[in-house]
Amino acid sequence: MAINRRDFLKFSAGTGLMLTAGATPGRAATVPQLPKDAVGILYDSTLCIGCKSCMVNCKLANSEPGGALYHKETAGKVPYEFPKGDKIYDAPERLSDKTLCVIKAYKGDEKTAGGDKGGPAFSFIKQHCLHCIEPACVAVCPVAALQKNPETGIVTYNKNKCFGCRYCQVACPFGIPMYEFEKSSPSVVKCQLCNHRYAQGKYSACCEACPTGASIFGKVTDLREEAKRRLALKAGDTYAYPVKRVDGAERTEQVVASYVDHVYGLDEAGGTQYLFLAGVKFDKLGFNPKITNQVYPDFTWDYVSHVPALIGTLLVVGTATRMVTQKLDKKKNDAGKGDAS
Ligand code: SF4
Ligand code: SF4
Ligand code: SF4
Repeated sequence: MAINRRDFLKFSAGTGLMLTAGATPGRAATVPQLPKDAVGILYDSTLCIGCKSCMVNCKLANSEPGGALYHKETAGKVPYEFPKGDKIYDAPERLSDKTLCVIKAYKGDEKTAGGDKGGPAFSFIKQHCLHCIEPACVAVCPVAALQKNPETGIVTYNKNKCFGCRYCQVACPFGIPMYEFEKSSPSVVKCQLCNHRYAQGKYSACCEACPTGASIFGKVTDLREEAKRRLALKAGDTYAYPVKRVDGAERTEQVVASYVDHVYGLDEAGGTQYLFLAGVKFDKLGFNPKITNQVYPDFTWDYVSHVPALIGTLLVVGTATRMVTQKLDKKKNDAGKGDAS
């Protein structure tokens, strides 16, 4: 990886010096290495019916102990996002500190939308962390609160290490990490590929709940093969699509749609463990066309090395925020203890 935590700390410590000197760190370009047992998700938007079962199961599964939305102080409560005055329907429209996964809908102009062969003018798209092979969020975290598992490649977050600088938010090219601004002791929130469920023999809750096979879980090498196999199919033929897991027995026979001839995530940002297929061009589905195949820690470093004041400011603000909120928390706890006695 082009920059690691030690480089970052060295850089942060020397920010003033480098500012004065106008120096930038030297580095070699990164060659992304997929971990041997990397797991991920293949999302095929041509199979997605927009039922949002994935979103529901994601929120439920991650509100359990160990989940990315679990908090001791709100244990047993699911962080729903009800529309104003309506307490019956969780309806998040975008990622937030309460929502790790969101289904969005695209509706385009019939004449101009579509895939390479003028595909549908309508599509769903599922957004959550892509578990980059070379994650920019991990590279810039000064305290290793974000880490990439060397075997599974899952990018996890440890709230006990995080001091709230939110530099990961700035660095992520996909705008994934969210922050709990409303909490007195805030954390960064993002999909951790349901890491907490593997010890129980389970896998990603979004894939487990997907009825159509639009979201499937598995080894990244298998998912890549499956994606390429689908691109080789002829539109109009039938194919037995795997459901829930790429290596599972459950299949569903479907008529093959017209695909855009591209697997998003094979190369973008150096490659990701969350892969996408679609019948509508990816830029129309909200993917930023400025994201290239460049490894983003390299890119981010190029960027931040020219604005070192940003790092310094975030570190200072983050540390101060964390200290103040922890003090408030301690006061609250102390007051609580006093009440109870
Ligand atoms: S998508 Fe963003 S948050 Fe997820 S691993 Fe990549 S850089 Fe990190
Ligand atoms: S892998 Fe788990 S945390 Fe990530 S979007 Fe799917 S259900 Fe949510
Ligand atoms: S559960 Fe599957 S079909 Fe339903 S919205 Fe999610 S990805 Fe699409």
